[in-house]
Amino acid sequence: MDHPLPQRLSCLMGATLPDGAVVDIDIVPDADGWATVAAIRSAADPPGEIDAYTVDLRGYVLLTAPAEPHAHLDKALSWDVLAPPFGDLGAAIGSWRHGSRELTGESFERRAISAATALLRNGATAIRSHADILEGPDPLRGIRALDAARARLRGLLDLEIVVLVPNQAPDALVHEALDAGADLVGGAPHVAPDPIAETSRLVRIAQERGVGIDLHVDEFLHGDHHTLGAFAERVAHWPAGRVRTAGHCCRLGTMPKDELAELLAQVARSGIGVVALPLTNLYLQGWDAPVATPRGLTAVGALLDAGVPVAAGGDNVRDPFNPIGRSDPLEIAAMLIAAAHLPPEIAVRLVTDDARAVLGLPEAGAKAGARAEFLAVRGRTLLDVVANAPADRIVVHNGAIVSISRTDHRIAEFAVEA
Ligand SMILES: [Zn+2]
Repeated sequence: MDHPLPQRLSCLMGATLPDGAVVDIDIVPDADGWATVAAIRSAADPPGEIDAYTVDLRGYVLLTAPAEPHAHLDKALSWDVLAPPFGDLGAAIGSWRHGSRELTGESFERRAISAATALLRNGATAIRSHADILEGPDPLRGIRALDAARARLRGLLDLEIVVLVPNQAPDALVHEALDAGADLVGGAPHVAPDPIAETSRLVRIAQERGVGIDLHVDEFLHGDHHTLGAFAERVAHWPAGRVRTAGHCCRLGTMPKDELAELLAQVARSGIGVVALPLTNLYLQGWDAPVATPRGLTAVGALLDAGVPVAAGGDNVRDPFNPIGRSDPLEIAAMLIAAAHLPPEIAVRLVTDDARAVLGLPEAGAKAGARAEFLAVRGRTLLDVVANAPADRIVVHNGAIVSISRTDHRIAEFAVEA
């Protein structure tokens, strides 16, 4: 870094938008102090003057800053210390349950900050992370660690915490987790002995607290517990602003078409947003099918056609549930093109604007009146930056540059005979 990061920008100069337009963007604080887009103009020719409040984005593609809608910052980056076997969801749950007993609050906080910082470097200025109620004598240490990490990351990114409730955890402990810093109720009812009863319990607790809910739903490919329909039915009457989210929903991807159409119509009416998690679910699902292996992916195209809000995220990163992951929303967008057959502009929308919408965040990006949350990536076109995912990026949160990454390539010169 050759100069300190500026505090608040007034202009993004010469940026290329996904539609190819090259623009200058003016930023002003709104009445509440949030940095917002005041105007988008065709880029001046010759370019305007660069001062301390202007960033020169000539040669960059400008996106709405991504939001990570489904992280597990408490589990992230634990692969090396836990040394789990490669395997499916059941194996991963077993490894984590056993290994997490030994992890201290300090470990949770350090890994959470490291994983969140990697997401920020790659452009995400908002993260929703699940955090387990843990086994052992101090079950809320992961949630407290994420709350502490949030305090340390304030001003760089917004972090929202979902308490991931095991079915054996009593209601009182869930309330304690919400008191300790969790913002939403979460859980994985499909692994409970009575998935419908667990869904009802978690919805009831969220209602009692007047908070949103984000459930892991049907993270499997065969059979059905009917939890998504039950979830939709129980939240359909909730007020419009209260967030309700279903992550994974892998079973939708293998469901017969008629059954799927009926269920998706119900989901669309319920206000539930669905989060697709291609990287982790392609790893976790399908281990029992060595040939014609099914894709562990929710029915992304059918959900969009049915009018259900859809986001996509990275989920687990280098932990027992997923040995890989770059904490890069552009990696997830690229995967949506290959695995869900989405066009690039829609794939990018699912990790940027639509991810923000599913999280209930205000509109952001290059629209008049929207919040000044941006990711600029060195490149020529939208597909260029998704295909190559260059590390050269500038990230803007609330109108200020919060991260700059630059790479330097040198290739040796060889004498070439004509
Ligand atoms: Zn998850």
